[in-house]
Amino acid sequence: MVNASRASRPDVENASVPDIATPLISWFRQEARDLPWRRSGFPAWGTLVSEIMLQQTQVARVIPRLEAWLTRWPTPADLAASPPADAVRAWDRLGYPRRALALHAAATVIATEHGNVVPRDVDALLALPGIGDYTARAVAVFAYGDRHPVVDVNVRRVLKRVLRGQGDPGPAKAKDDLPLMESVLPDDRDDAATTNAAVMELGALVCVARSPACDACPIADRCAWRAAGYPEHDGPRAPKQAKFAGSDRQVRGLIMAELRASDVPVARSEIEPVWPDAEQRDRALASLLRDGLATGDDATGYRLPDA
Ligand code: SF4
Repeated sequence: MVNASRASRPDVENASVPDIATPLISWFRQEARDLPWRRSGFPAWGTLVSEIMLQQTQVARVIPRLEAWLTRWPTPADLAASPPADAVRAWDRLGYPRRALALHAAATVIATEHGNVVPRDVDALLALPGIGDYTARAVAVFAYGDRHPVVDVNVRRVLKRVLRGQGDPGPAKAKDDLPLMESVLPDDRDDAATTNAAVMELGALVCVARSPACDACPIADRCAWRAAGYPEHDGPRAPKQAKFAGSDRQVRGLIMAELRASDVPVARSEIEPVWPDAEQRDRALASLLRDGLATGDDATGYRLPDA
């Protein structure tokens, strides 16, 4: 039994919160996937890179890119010494390439203002360019083992089902979600970090959005949603991810692929074949220029930033 006293915790809606930490920690030790960022000795810089890559991108696609990235840039200073275009190129097809620019900007600050060491303090992490609340907490907990609640979409789904009896997590609300995670964290620092990782893993492997595998769930006997007979959720739902096919995001990706593949500026006429709708193509190119992911004009051609 882990030390799961909650006497000094912020109030949550449930007066009595079940101990889910004890069974989850045991389950996690046996069932967790062997992922690079969970291996002993994995650097904090690797945790930061992996957390940014994992936002919006599946684990299987992240692992090879992450390993190549850390081989090429083993510390923040190594990345900061390369031009942003190299980061965008190495991002390859992970999607949402603004994350590559944000990582480059964060690496530059870590190298110049933090002695090339990823900060441990959540506020110092939050002060880095492009680092949001989730990533700051995840680095403090998973790289340094500190005790903070970390909430992603998988955590929200599990906790809302187990503690609130609600099948759909609803829209993210930090004011609600963080105290809910806090309410199940053991006092012990290591147990708290493992519990947080275990809730995430349960949401990724067992308590999935559609067809949760309740027969294989280590906390099935404590799940309020299951006990209530899986009632339909009638409140606001978590927003669905916008369709990729035909979206501006797809067109941006196609233009970026052209720019990444070329060592010389790309003429607008070479970009035209990537997408038939000229208005949408122009809008996508303009947004890439605005985001700093591309530079140039019709006279000089288009290229990655600082290529
Ligand atoms: S019992 Fe089912 S719904 Fe409840 S936490 Fe486990 S997998 Fe999720």
